[in-house]
This record gives sequence, structure tokens and C-alpha cells, in this order.
Amino acid sequence: MNLHEYQGKELLHSYGVAIQQGKVAATVEEAAEAYQEIVDRTGSKFAVVKAQIHAGGRGKGGGVKLVKSMDELKEKAGDILGMMLKTPQTPGGMEGPGKLVRKILVAEDAYIPSPDECDEFYVSVLMDREKKCNVIVYSTEGGVDIETVAEETPHLVHKEYIDPTLGLQGFQARKIAFNLGLSGKAFKEMNRFISSLYKAFVGSDASLFEINPCTKRGDDSIIAVDCKVTLDDNALFRHKDLAEMRDTGEEDPTEVEAKEYGLNYVQLDGNVGCMVNGAGLAMATMDIIKLSGGEPANFLDVGGTADAKRVEQAFRIILKDPEVKAILINIFGGIVRCDRVAQGVVDAYKNMGNIGVPIIVRLQGTNADIAKKIIDESGLAVHSAILLQEAADLVKEVVS
Ligand code: GDP
Ligand code: MN
Repeated sequence: MNLHEYQGKELLHSYGVAIQQGKVAATVEEAAEAYQEIVDRTGSKFAVVKAQIHAGGRGKGGGVKLVKSMDELKEKAGDILGMMLKTPQTPGGMEGPGKLVRKILVAEDAYIPSPDECDEFYVSVLMDREKKCNVIVYSTEGGVDIETVAEETPHLVHKEYIDPTLGLQGFQARKIAFNLGLSGKAFKEMNRFISSLYKAFVGSDASLFEINPCTKRGDDSIIAVDCKVTLDDNALFRHKDLAEMRDTGEEDPTEVEAKEYGLNYVQLDGNVGCMVNGAGLAMATMDIIKLSGGEPANFLDVGGTADAKRVEQAFRIILKDPEVKAILINIFGGIVRCDRVAQGVVDAYKNMGNIGVPIIVRLQGTNADIAKKIIDESGLAVHSAILLQEAADLVKEVVS
């Protein structure tokens, strides 16, 4: 689950990480109120308006604007609220439709006394799967595409691996501050920034923190000016406050609906829908579809209880995608009995009326023969297969 920048900053702040202060607003009036507060508190008329969408590169798309007066604030807030913001990271990139901006963050100007007197760093925390531990990735080249920095000047991107049993050690935070070229007060501030950032990462069961830019200001203070936070869905049950931050408006509507049914669904852009039990089998099934000349339209794991109701919900979810030309159901009956799944498929099919695309069912495991009989005798346009190869051949026939 992803957080908005303003939510991520709240989370960081609660762990003592210094942030660019601001307030979220959904209307121009709320934005004006937030701006007035900033002016009263800081004594400066400078502030930024930042679009809150789940995508980076907002600056490039016109979603981040500096303002210097109340009039300008109202104008920019009005422009950004309700706009379809296109960034290199929104679906389809700069050529795509963009994402609707429902909220903005009105924040104090982070670059004090001026951008020339500030330095921008890149700091992120994530899991390194190969090394099986967390890693802090950092660079002096912040504020820009880190992908470009990594490609063109890889020696400027540093990594600090964290031993999971020891946690972040004091010397590691100091090494990071040192490698970023800091000394004196800025060194101490960065040291503290890194330590509390790592505490926040572990404490919130996050899978990604990306602070770009992390800014050193003229007074040598270090603050997070932007932040991208991804939390581990599997740990949300122990972070009720964070779970409540979910913004389903930012997520794929079909995936949200699937989640409500307890189905594990990920939308892809192919033409063969698949319904499978177990993530491993789902991956293998997607490979089979590709080998047969098709492209998987989705990943869908119906889990252990593939009864008629779940099969029907899964059907409905898959069929929402107009690209789907065929559906391959591949279920292994280990815990669940194949004949029950087959009955579920038949019942769901009858319930739904016209499904309109060929369905290939491959059931293997307990009572597979009975299951095949149920499908074959149902009189429906459902092809049954017992061997995976047969199913693959049927998919090939349908997509070619
Ligand atoms: P992103 O484009 O989605 O990564 O959004 P960021 O929060 O990183 O902002 C993009 C850029 O806007 C930053 O790299 C800064 O150059 C600029 N920016 C953000 N906040 C401020 C601010 O408070 N003052 C000024 N002058 N520029 C800012
Ligand atoms: Mn950024």
C-alpha cells in the first residue's frame, strides 16, 4: 500500500524525522487557510503547492508550484486541484490521461534562504532481496531522477547494508553523513535524520521509503522535502492507524473490488484471463499462456476455497477487462475437491448468463475425473482438460 506524500511526512514526523511542514487541503479555501498559517508561523510569504497523487515526477508535470502571495496561492491551488496531472510515472506516462488531483499539500518553502544555498540529497531505505537485508541507498545527486544518476554516474550512488540482527549501527549513520560530504552541524543533523528514518522504516513495517530530495538548508538543518512511502500489506493488521490512510481512489478499481472479496488480483495487459489457486501455480499458468502464444490478462489467485461463490466473483472480476478473449482456469485440488470447483464453475456460468468468451478448465487432483465429467456433461461452452498440455493447446487454438 502506498501513502500520499502528506501522509508519509506525518509518519516520518511521528518518528522524529525533520520534514518540510505543511497541511493538506481539498479546496481552495482550505488551501488559503493553510497558507495563512504558514505565513503567520514563518513570517515568509513563500510556500509551495504540491499535488497529492500516488506517482512521482509531479514537478515535471506542473504539479508542484512555488507561490509568493495569497492571490498566487489561490490561483495555483485552483489550477492544480481537479487537474489531470501527467507525470512520467502516471499510467501511460506523459502521453497517458494523467491522474485526477483531489488533494494538495500546502507547505512552507523548504529552500531557505534560497535554492542556491541549499543542497539536495537522495536517501532511500528498502529491502535488498539478494542480500536478504535492508539497505540504505543514498547519493549527493538528489532532486533529480535517481535512475539517470545510477545509469550515468553509478559511482555517485552509495549503499549501506543493515545487518538484521544488529540493526542500524551508529558508525553506519556517520559514514552516510560523511560520504554525503557533511561536517559540523549538518553532519550531526544527517546522522540523526538517518537514525530516525531507519527507526520509522522498521517501526512501520515499510517496504520502501524514498526521500528525494532530502535537503540541507542554509542553516545546516536537514529535512525531508518529498517522500514516497510503501507499506507492507501483510503487516497492516498491526498498524490500524496506517491502514486507515489507504486511498482507494488512487488504486485500480478492479483490484480494490477483488481485495474486498479476498481475491488476490493484479491487472495485466494481455488477452487470456486466468483463475488459479495458489500463487506458484498462478505464475506457472501465466508462463503456459505465454508459451501458447497468448498474454496473461491478469494474475488471479482464488486461494484455498474455490467454491461456486468465489469462482463467480472471480469470473466477474476477470470479465470486467474488455481485452479478455479467453479464460483459463487451472486449479489443483489438494485441499479443495475438484468436483466442487467444477460444480462451482458450472453454477457460476449458469448464474451469469452469457459469458461470451471460451473457458478452458483444467482440474487436477482429488476427484479430477468426476470434475471433468461434470464439465463435459454440463452442455456449456466450457472446454475441459486434465493435462496442462491439453489446456495449453486449447489456449493456443483460441488465441490464434
Ligand atoms: P516530485 O516531482 O513528485 O518528485 O516532487 P518533489 O516534492 O520532489 O518536488 C519537485 C521539485 O519541486 C523539487 O525537486 C524542488 O526542486 C521543487 N520544490 C519542492 N518543494 C519546494 C520548495 O519548498 N521550494 C522550492 N523553491 N522548490 C520546491
Ligand atoms: Mn521528489
